[in-house]
Amino acid sequence: LLPRISDYADWMAAHRPDDEAMVLEDRRWSYAALARAVDALARALIVAGVGKGDRVATLQTPHPDYLVSFLASASIGAIWVGLNPRYQFEELAYVVADAAPKVLLARTHIGGRDYRDLLTRLRACSPALEMAVAFAGEPPVAGFSRWEAFMSAGEGCGDAQLRAARAGCGGFDPCLIVYTSGSTGRPKGAVLHHHGLAAFSLAQNRLWPVSPLRAVNYFPINHVGCVVDVSLPTLLAGGTILFLEQFDPRASLALMAAERATLWGSVPTCFQMQLDVPDFDTFDLSAVQLILWEGAAMPVDLLRRLHAIHPRLATNYGMTETTSGIAATEPTGDLEVLANSVGTAFPGVEIRLVDAGGNDVSAGESGEVWARSPYNLLRYWNHPAETAAALTPDGWFRTGDLAVRRTDGRYRIVGRLKEMFKSGGYNVYPREVEAAIEAHPDVEQVAIVSTEDPTWQEIGVAFIVARPSLSTAAIEAWCRGRLANYKIPKRFVFVADLPLLPIGKIDKPALRRMAADTRE
Ligand code: ATP
Ligand code: MG
Repeated sequence: LLPRISDYADWMAAHRPDDEAMVLEDRRWSYAALARAVDALARALIVAGVGKGDRVATLQTPHPDYLVSFLASASIGAIWVGLNPRYQFEELAYVVADAAPKVLLARTHIGGRDYRDLLTRLRACSPALEMAVAFAGEPPVAGFSRWEAFMSAGEGCGDAQLRAARAGCGGFDPCLIVYTSGSTGRPKGAVLHHHGLAAFSLAQNRLWPVSPLRAVNYFPINHVGCVVDVSLPTLLAGGTILFLEQFDPRASLALMAAERATLWGSVPTCFQMQLDVPDFDTFDLSAVQLILWEGAAMPVDLLRRLHAIHPRLATNYGMTETTSGIAATEPTGDLEVLANSVGTAFPGVEIRLVDAGGNDVSAGESGEVWARSPYNLLRYWNHPAETAAALTPDGWFRTGDLAVRRTDGRYRIVGRLKEMFKSGGYNVYPREVEAAIEAHPDVEQVAIVSTEDPTWQEIGVAFIVARPSLSTAAIEAWCRGRLANYKIPKRFVFVADLPLLPIGKIDKPALRRMAADTRE
């Protein structure tokens, strides 16, 4: 059997026990301390009745306890689900009802917000839930066990019982459900496995060697960004995860400077906010060896600013359903490559670009990206019809993204199938139009969505964050010089900022609602 994802942390604990695994504020966890915490929690979960295939959910910020709970669950073959405390009750209730965890571990207070009422309601709407536990030091909640009692019950699980629970799980067994970001609809739970996570992490470390690896992690725990892209590769490299419970641009820069972060991995929106911090220049980021982004295209202007700060950049293209990895660039300072491609296929990934009939497109044409690899999800949790729609019988995952293969073999993402709309009978791909508008020197950010229109069936509405000097006439003229008429948005809305999903991606469903309101 292939390893369990938790085996790598155990190896570190056995061989380099004193190395620093995690940092949160002024607290530090060695690999030995991490392994001890994982072990103790695994025993408590076993005593609580958690076995192979059972779900364990955790409501937590990016905090060491989150990682302990993931590794403890995975180590005994359970399937872990992260819950984002920033979600509203309905969003959490949807995930909890869908994943049906047997055990819920939760914070009851975070940053001044009291979760007790929400947790009690959450408990009530999840009949599968057998036990709910409040994390250590948290005020008690009705219906939730105290951490101390839960953990001391775990001491009743002996070594032999723990070994038995751990035997026979790993490899392609599921260990993680990650709900997609919800850019195109209701989040779906992608079921990921031990081998995919381990292979992805090892490949990522090989592609972007950074030593020692000290990576900031301010991503919500329900997202691949937190678990797959930062936590696990860092753990498998024997590096240090620098947690920040709540993303704040200034605090994140201060943390990177104080802790000598070597990897600055983020999503474009967070980079934007960080570079916009007024005293950005006062933060010493000289330890950074690589800037890495994923999750969305990088606006060219922002790319140039980042390049001026650091000569080595890379991007990773992928999604929740593919454990992140589909394509990646090498670390490079080549702005042409970084601005116009997501690099070549990630090691172990086969990529096809196909047309609507499922046939490979001709060279230079755009097609839907299909990917097949050990990183692909096993299935969507509870959604066989959506699984069948997304995964072909021979294992290809249809990404819904459109790309072109360049003559140098690198892929360029040109849009999303679901975002494509028809204006006057022509297909418009918002990403292409966004890129043209982003190139305007006065434009900081732009997002385009479609809305219904009596004349054109659908039209594009551009939401723009720009310098005050930019007028609608000026941006229209700019578009006319660069885009075919039917691609030019029919409405331009200047906004102070764009609505964001909890991960920091632009919230296109919210923009679609706003666009509908712009109808005359
Ligand atoms: P949902 O699937 O719920 O609609 P989502 O697709 O945004 O949401 P994620 O899995 O977080 O959820 O995001 C993956 C998507 O992000 C990809 O399909 C692609 O469109 C985009 N993306 C990811 N990485 C990059 C990148 N490096 N460059 C450009 N776009 C990217
Ligand atoms: Mg998606």
